[in-house]
Amino acid sequence: MSDFVRRTTRLERPIGSRLGRLDIELTERCDNDCIHCCINLPAGDREARARELTTAQVEGILDQAAELGCLQVRYTGGEPLLRPDFEELYLHARRLGIKVLIFTNARRITPELADLLARVPPLVTAEVTVYGMHAESYEAVSRVPGSYSQFRRGVDLLLDRGVPFVVKGALLPANRGEVEEFEAWAATIPWMDKPPSYAMTFDLRNRRDDERKNELIRSLRLPPDEAVAMLTRRPEEYRREMTEFAGRFMGPQGDVLFACGAGHGVSVDAYGRAQPCMGVRAPELTVDLIRACAAGGADGGGATLAAALEAFAALRELRATNPEYLRRCARCFLKGLCEQCPAKSWAEHGRLDTPVEYLCAVAHAQARWLGWLGADEYAWEVVDWRARVT
Ligand code: SF4
Ligand code: SF4
Repeated sequence: MSDFVRRTTRLERPIGSRLGRLDIELTERCDNDCIHCCINLPAGDREARARELTTAQVEGILDQAAELGCLQVRYTGGEPLLRPDFEELYLHARRLGIKVLIFTNARRITPELADLLARVPPLVTAEVTVYGMHAESYEAVSRVPGSYSQFRRGVDLLLDRGVPFVVKGALLPANRGEVEEFEAWAATIPWMDKPPSYAMTFDLRNRRDDERKNELIRSLRLPPDEAVAMLTRRPEEYRREMTEFAGRFMGPQGDVLFACGAGHGVSVDAYGRAQPCMGVRAPELTVDLIRACAAGGADGGGATLAAALEAFAALRELRATNPEYLRRCARCFLKGLCEQCPAKSWAEHGRLDTPVEYLCAVAHAQARWLGWLGADEYAWEVVDWRARVT
């Protein structure tokens, strides 16, 4: 059997093995400084680097994740390839039989790393975010001279070695005129089986640490009607997808706060704080794996990862109390379509149950385009929504 596959029998696994998803933010730092970014710290931020999880701590978390039945980890950031021990952490996961999803800007893909990914496949298609098709547009977003050519070189290395990856975009003023060019190029990538997705409603900083940056991010969000124009540029396809989606996911959720997949997985930030998802950073919902490890005298935080999972499972019982949420979101049939969720509410308002007006406007604009809502209607007022969405 290969070094990178580990078969376990059901008896070897602990009863209750159930970690469905593990995200690890290997660093909050990035070698880009994208104008819309809700996360990044400078690549050279020494204080942040010093606080980051050590190699042994990440490996300890992975060991315990494997014991909990975890089959896949997402390595994200910041830019995860900034970590000098990235290859070690990658191989550790693969030796445990855990697939690795890599989110990257591709600037630090070296020939050696591309060779490694070809020799020991991640078994999940990597995702590369593209900020422009030319140096001028890309670097107007990334704000780092030379970053475009490094990104192209990284992508060429992946192509050359046959390492599967897809690309996705971030729609910003500097690259809005390049959509067709981007999509034509994306279609030449062997693993792109559909057109690229785009970020365009940009999250605020979920650490709630920089109001000036939030102002910039707000100014870069696509106005709701333009977001809808972008989403519906292949109208028949969009209508078909949304109709299928509506049948499965739409409908009022009542006062249940976490109507998403929270509680089935764990996200770990760069400093070892476990969260229900990457976006929810409310202190009362995080579990500090490092502090708990130290108290327990163990390195790796395995039991604490299990405890975090237990704690997050309880979130499914949480109920919204904000009267405005209960008046609107709790009764709104667009709940499955709208991006409002406890994480977005936290980033915008510092509490978990507040409607996010921008996302509300985008969801309503989509519903009006689809003919589900009249011009003056609000989704929380509609009772015959089932008849409208079929
Ligand atoms: S590459 Fe990603 S993490 Fe880095 S600054 Fe850009 S958006 Fe942020
Ligand atoms: S569309 Fe508005 S009311 Fe409906 S779930 Fe989203 S934020 Fe809440």
